[in-house]
Parts: sequence; structure tokens; C-alpha cells
Amino acid sequence: MSVFTESPERQALRRAVFDLGRRYGAAYFQAKARAGLPTRELWDEAGKLGYLGVNIPAEYGGGGAGISELAIVLEELGAAGAPLLMLVVSPAICGTVIARFGTEWQRRQWLPGLADGSRRMAFGITEPDAGSNSHRIGTVARRDGTDWLLSGRKVFISGIDHSDAVLFVGRTEDAATGRLKPALFIVPRDTPGFEYRPIPMELVTAEKQFQVFLDDVRLPADALVGDENAGLMQLFAGLNPERIMTAAFTLGIARQALGRAVEYARTRTVWDTPIGAHQGIAHPLAQCTIEVELARLMMQKAADLYDAGDDIGAGEAANMAKYAAGEAACRAVDQAVQTLGGNGLTQEYGLAALIAATRVARVAPVSREMVLNYVAQHTLGLPRSY
Ligand SMILES: Cc1cc2nc3c(=O)[nH]c(=O)nc-3n(C[C@H](O)[C@H](O)[C@H](O)COP(=O)(O)OP(=O)(O)OC[C@H]3O[C@@H](n4cnc5c(N)ncnc54)[C@H](O)[C@@H]3O)c2cc1C
Repeated sequence: MSVFTESPERQALRRAVFDLGRRYGAAYFQAKARAGLPTRELWDEAGKLGYLGVNIPAEYGGGGAGISELAIVLEELGAAGAPLLMLVVSPAICGTVIARFGTEWQRRQWLPGLADGSRRMAFGITEPDAGSNSHRIGTVARRDGTDWLLSGRKVFISGIDHSDAVLFVGRTEDAATGRLKPALFIVPRDTPGFEYRPIPMELVTAEKQFQVFLDDVRLPADALVGDENAGLMQLFAGLNPERIMTAAFTLGIARQALGRAVEYARTRTVWDTPIGAHQGIAHPLAQCTIEVELARLMMQKAADLYDAGDDIGAGEAANMAKYAAGEAACRAVDQAVQTLGGNGLTQEYGLAALIAATRVARVAPVSREMVLNYVAQHTLGLPRSY
């Protein structure tokens, strides 16, 4: 079988998840998002069916598969109109980091819940003064007896209000300066000294973004994930899945938009033929479809490398996939809106909301410019300007 032919298991997963997503659909998703409510019913059902934890090791209640399968789940939910952003964070970043580097106690404590969706974990790295420059992270952990005291500020952290805990990236006091030596801490949401406030965003999503204040948050020794001296490697292990899953999230939405545009172009007639017969409508849609398919291929390559244990190879491919997905999706959604004319901007058709949703992928979790910097330096060997 060709490497480009998806296995029967993956095809079956794709179909089953798409069917689930379609039962809820874009109308459900957007109604919830506009009301500021989480898409809890979908999350819970997907969790019961085992879709949210396909990448979590089977011995901790997951599906024992990989990021490839989790990306399929997110892509298909997005294509069906009901993407679950927290899949990028809870099972993909936090589940991966805990499964790979957590203590046995942390694994038993968190992974079964992350796998069946009964527990969620957000992820916090971005800071007001250290966005793209994570070497500047100023959230510091200092020891107090056997405890840790964590202080700092974070911004744009998604989904804290519906999470049980946040995996925060800080640095230890003795590593407070110089190049980043991160340390990762699990902080339960109700820990004293941990406050969060929603940031008003121009996004129609079920997940809010928050700014966070950590004021001498007292944590037990076992809140530290893995080794405080190997934090960078642990962090990268989580960031590659994050990029792959952001690509899946974005490409799913792009497929949803293109699907709706094609359906509209087939039936809408304002001259003698459906508008889809005009090359001014058909060609851009064909072009966007090619770009989305190319980005999907790169995403699948990145996921495959990651699942094969090639963290370095996956790093380059995940960056390229995230970049390609963001660009392809922004163009696809824009063209879908154009195809629907005025209807493209109505709430009824729900396409305009996808402009902002796909636009996020040009900024987060790593910006378009920082991916270009990465490729310029690591792939092309060009000097660094910053
Ligand atoms: C919807 C949403 C959800 C998010 N969820 C999370 C989350 O759950 N957890 C989390 O930790 N973070 C989250 N983020 C934050 C996100 O990861 C950051 O916004 C992103 O990393 C960019 O950082 P910044 O916003 O500080 O931009 P900045 O770093 O201030 O960059 C601003 C601009 O300058 C450019 N720039 C900066 N440095 C360079 C350079 N050296 N060369 C060229 N250009 C440069 C950038 O590309 C960008 O265009 C989220 C953001 C959004 C919008």
C-alpha cells in the first residue's frame, strides 16, 4: 500500500468523527460560541467515544495511537463545522508532555481524565513581555522548603475557565537570566494566588482567552513536570504537537468553508448558469483546494515524523505545516466568503466568523514571521537578525 493511502483504521476514524461533528454542526457550534458557552455536549460525547484521547497511551486510558490520529479527529470536527480548540492544548500538549516526562503519579493523576475528556488542562507560555521571544519568560519558580512559589504574568491563555489545571511554563530562580531554561508546572485552577480574567476577543469561538496573574502560588514539589534541568526538551516535545494540531484545526475549518462555497457555487444562479460555471469563481476555489491539500500533506508528514520519534525532523515539518495551513486556510475562507457574495457576510451562513478563526493560525502558537525566521536559519542556514 502506498504511504499516501490512509490505513482502513484511520479512514474509519475520519468518517466516524466527521459523522459525530456533523450531528452537532456549525449551527450548534456558532450558537454556543456566540452565547459564550462551551461546546460541552460535543466534548463529552467525543470523550466517551474515545476520540479526545486517541494519542494517550492505552495503559492510561487512551487510544494508544499518535498525533496523526488526534490530528484526524480535530481536522474532521472542523470540517464538520464544530472544531474543539482545546484538543490542541489538553491531550496534544499537556497529554504528550505528561505521558513522556511526567512522574508515574502525575500520569495516573491526569492522563485517564485527559483521555476521556472528563478533565481538561490549559497551557500557558505566552507573557505580555515575552510573546515570540520565549527566552524572556519572566514567570519564576523559587523553592520554599520542598514547595515551589510561582510568580509571573501570562496572556492569551485559552480555555482556563473550563480547565481543571494549567500547565505553566516558567523558569527556576537560579535559571532566571540568560537563555531559556524552562520548568513546567501543573497548577490546579483553584490554587490560591492564581487569578485569571477574560480578554475581550473578536473571535466567535467557544473558548475564551485569559490574562493570568500568578502571585506567589504555592505548589507542592510534585507540581513540577519532569526534570527542571531538561525543561527545554520537554517543552519542545509539547510544542511540535501544538503546531501540528493548529494546522489540523485550521485546515478542518478551511475544508468546511470550501465545502460550503462549492455547494453554493453549484446552485446559485444569477445569469443563465450556476456561478460555479464562471472561471472567476471556479478557479480560485480549485486553487484553494490545491493549497489546502498541500498543507494537509505537510501536516501528515510532520505528524508521521513525530509519531516515529523524530523530534528534530518533526520540528521543521511542523513549523512548515503550521505556516502552510495558516496561509492556505486564510485564502480559502476569504474565497469562500467571496463566493457567497453578501451571504458570505451573514450570520446565517456563518462564514465571516471563520475569517478571524483561521487568521489566528498566522499568529499563534508561533507567528508566520517566526516560522520564516526558523526556516531561514535552520533550513537555509542564513544568519539571524534578532
Ligand atoms: C486566539 C489565541 C489563542 C491563544 N492561546 C494561547 C494559549 O492557550 N497559550 C499560550 O501560551 N498562548 C496562546 N496564545 C498566544 C500566542 O501564542 C501568541 O499570540 C503568539 O506567540 C505571538 O506572540 P505575541 O502575540 O506576543 O506577538 P509578538 O511576539 O509581540 O509579535 C508581534 C509581531 O511581531 C512579529 N515579530 C516578533 N519578533 C520578530 C522577529 N524576530 N522577526 C520578525 N517578526 C517578528 C511577530 O511575527 C508578530 O507579527 C494565543 C493567541 C491567540 C490569538
